[in-house]
Amino acid sequence: MNLKDDLWFDPALCFIGGRWVRPAGGETIELEDPSSGTVLCAIARGTAADIDAAVAAAGDALQGDWGRMTAPERGRILARLGALVLSRTEELARLEAADVGKPLKQARADAIALARYMEFYGGAADKIHGATIPYLQGYTVYSLREPHGVTGHIVPWNYPMQIIGRSVGAALAMGNAAVLKPAEEACLSALAFAALAEEAGLPAGALNVVPGLGEEAGAALSAHKGVHHISFTGSVAVGSLIQTAAARNIVPVTLELGGKSPQLVFDDADLEAALPFLVNAGIQNAGQTCSASSRILVQRSVYDSVVEKMAARYEALRVGPALADLDVGPLISARQKQLVGGFLAKGDDLQQVAKGRIVDDAPERGHYVAPTLFADVAPDHVLAQSEIFGPVQVIIPFDDEAEALAIANGTEYGLVASVWTRDGARQMRVAKALRSGQVFINNYGAGGGVELPFGGVGKSGHGREKGFEALYGFSKLKTVAAFHG
Ligand code: NAD
Repeated sequence: MNLKDDLWFDPALCFIGGRWVRPAGGETIELEDPSSGTVLCAIARGTAADIDAAVAAAGDALQGDWGRMTAPERGRILARLGALVLSRTEELARLEAADVGKPLKQARADAIALARYMEFYGGAADKIHGATIPYLQGYTVYSLREPHGVTGHIVPWNYPMQIIGRSVGAALAMGNAAVLKPAEEACLSALAFAALAEEAGLPAGALNVVPGLGEEAGAALSAHKGVHHISFTGSVAVGSLIQTAAARNIVPVTLELGGKSPQLVFDDADLEAALPFLVNAGIQNAGQTCSASSRILVQRSVYDSVVEKMAARYEALRVGPALADLDVGPLISARQKQLVGGFLAKGDDLQQVAKGRIVDDAPERGHYVAPTLFADVAPDHVLAQSEIFGPVQVIIPFDDEAEALAIANGTEYGLVASVWTRDGARQMRVAKALRSGQVFINNYGAGGGVELPFGGVGKSGHGREKGFEALYGFSKLKTVAAFHG
């Protein structure tokens, strides 16, 4: 893909203190188009020196125009930014499709979600406040919600626009100044977003973007003494490093890590309504979704019917280049394809019931994997326990509610779950018993819902983003106790 006509910023620069600057080390990283395996463009290889500059610029912004702004003024800028994002939906979608490899329709949904986050957090900026607290005779006590200060945002490659929207949007709404380190595999939409923020009138330094490698720019940001809160989305292994680095500086972290999210299908469920969700939640973004539903648990009396219907849907899935806008795009990289291939090899002992098809004209060097569906999988099989981060789903039979819950709760993750049943009492019981940050009843929102608090339990992480809840995470509470007699 020729990107030249689509860019309205120089991808080889960092955005620091309101200026587009070369990385201090002068080096770049090649960004790959996962659909063709060719080089898209060069991006900056930011290092610790650039992170230093970005943290300093964020600190200056808090002391300057940005720090002096009222909440309604901040809200107005975010709303303006949302409108700009919306007006560039198609360009942003093409960028994200080229960079991440996701089909255009999915990239378009991400661009619209980014705009929605700005609208939501723009509107929320002046609606979050403290409380008055009844106390002893002669006292008036109230609480104040204050920004942390400089917030660090380390973002993965799978949903850059959505993740930037939810974390940077909430942080800015609360009056923090942000330093964003996008993923080295996909960072064009982060830079595009910075250019639009500039156009929307966001004061210099309120948002800084430093692309670079995780172990260089990312590690420098998470360990920086000038950072007061870190929001990380990514793998469990790196999340643990981030939490360790933050612990050294005693700063709070929000960790959004992986998942092995189940959907529980009971025999009284509306199967026709469930089917599209059962499959789409597994193959969306080629399964590279933290909240992908990779385990489908089905009650035995409807088991054969669900397996057969899911298999039919899998056989119809078409895999190809992002801009061809089929059902599934390539994986992000050769490395990811190799990882997923390793898992598929571990499924040799399993019953593979269906596979999607890679279209004949898909470029040979693209990172394509045909979606694969396994049935009759034991709950403790490696494919039913590990986060694969590829288009692979396993179907597991169960007999009754107790067994379904034991299987659903039987991994180290807990991000999203859903229950499909017409029995209202069971809906309530199961929703309560599921060990999961979000539970859907008779639907499945793979990470969707700007308004809905989102986050995990166990190895899926801690802290909540999205919705109003995120604003609590991106602020600290001060209690003021006045004695007046
Ligand atoms: P990753 O953890 O390797 O990378 C994520 C980000 O961390 C990137 O920006 C990377 O540059 C940075 N990073 C890497 N090493 C670092 C270090 N030592 N110090 C600081 N930063 C570092 O993850 P990935 O492979 O890019 O993404 C896949 C994983 O992320 C999956 O496990 C997936 O489940 C998870 N994920 C979770 C969510 C969620 O919301 N819960 C969303 C997307 C992805």
